[in-house]
Amino acid sequence: MPTKDEILQALARVKDPEIGRSIVELGMVKDITIDDGAVDVTIALTVEGCPLQGSIGADVRDAVRSIPGVSTVNVNLTVMTKEELEALTARLRGPKPESPLLEEDSPTRVIAVASGKGGVGKSTVTVNLAIALARRGASVGLLDADILGFSVPRLMGLLGEHPTVLNETLLPIVQFGVRVMSMGFFLESEDQPVIWRAPLLRKYFEQMITDVHWGELDYLLLDLPPGTGDMTLNVVQLIPRSEMLIVTTPQEAASHVALRAGAMAFRAGMGVLGVVENMSYFRCPHCGEVSYLFGRGGGDMVATSLSVPVLGRIPMTEAIQRGSDEGAPVMAVAPQDDAAKAFADLAAAVVEAQPVRPQPTAAE
Ligand code: ADP
Repeated sequence: MPTKDEILQALARVKDPEIGRSIVELGMVKDITIDDGAVDVTIALTVEGCPLQGSIGADVRDAVRSIPGVSTVNVNLTVMTKEELEALTARLRGPKPESPLLEEDSPTRVIAVASGKGGVGKSTVTVNLAIALARRGASVGLLDADILGFSVPRLMGLLGEHPTVLNETLLPIVQFGVRVMSMGFFLESEDQPVIWRAPLLRKYFEQMITDVHWGELDYLLLDLPPGTGDMTLNVVQLIPRSEMLIVTTPQEAASHVALRAGAMAFRAGMGVLGVVENMSYFRCPHCGEVSYLFGRGGGDMVATSLSVPVLGRIPMTEAIQRGSDEGAPVMAVAPQDDAAKAFADLAAAVVEAQPVRPQPTAAE
């Protein structure tokens, strides 16, 4: 008479055609009864009416029939319960990635820098804020989460640099006292396009959090892609305690979309730290007269609408512009510039600020 072990061994060779893994490993074999040479096998399919059920049934029958002593094989097909299916999905997904950054009580403040639209200086603010925090003695990481439109390598003077890989762990590149990681470090040139769909972007983001040896950080700054989109959701799902810092210019066009980015953060359950108004004003280097090239009020509008503070107002200066192009951020190379002073003040305000959390709705 065949034994249960022999039958399981034979069934271990039968694969679920869609998942490509053994039906035993997937927990699809629910029951085996042996009555002399007559074997009864119950297989739980992952979905009802699975189009491949005929082929699984036939493979199971063939596998069991090949065992010496088996006279008849009866295959019953059922469907996995919701709990069984969830357990299977979790097993397939593998263990949840581990990183000290993902722990709820991690001391690292994760600050996602967002803007509604591109070109308002979000990356410039992120880079200079990171350097300003590092200059205060904090240990700071900077992850360029703008994967498709990365600009951190250029701004930080790291074009053409590649990170070291140590035992399958990536080491961030340290520049101006900040630990930096960017998609740009993996490409041959800055002009090479990255054409990835949302699931891959999410996976990449997760890996940049978990597979990079960030070390002990006080702050991890994320340079988010412009817009209100997916990356905010990825961030809050992976790191629920993360905080959003919103960058806008004084212009109406920019502030209205920036407001949407903040509203999106609240809806996704992310706290909002405050607003940075970039290109706030221009002080003439000759006569000292201040002019408002992009109008006024955008930062206040966003802050008031979201009930968060304006944490900084960064002037337009030539040193910022030059620094961006030359990979020499103003905060690192021209600390006496008006903008560098504004970034230092911004860092001080960020250290003190507490994120405003979304209010639970009455239904919750
Ligand atoms: P974003 O990340 O929002 O797309 P960037 O940070 O790349 O914007 O900035 C866009 C351009 O504007 C860069 O060339 C940068 O040097 C310039 N810029 C940003 N902020 C300022 C500023 N305060 N003064 C002068 N130029 C600035």
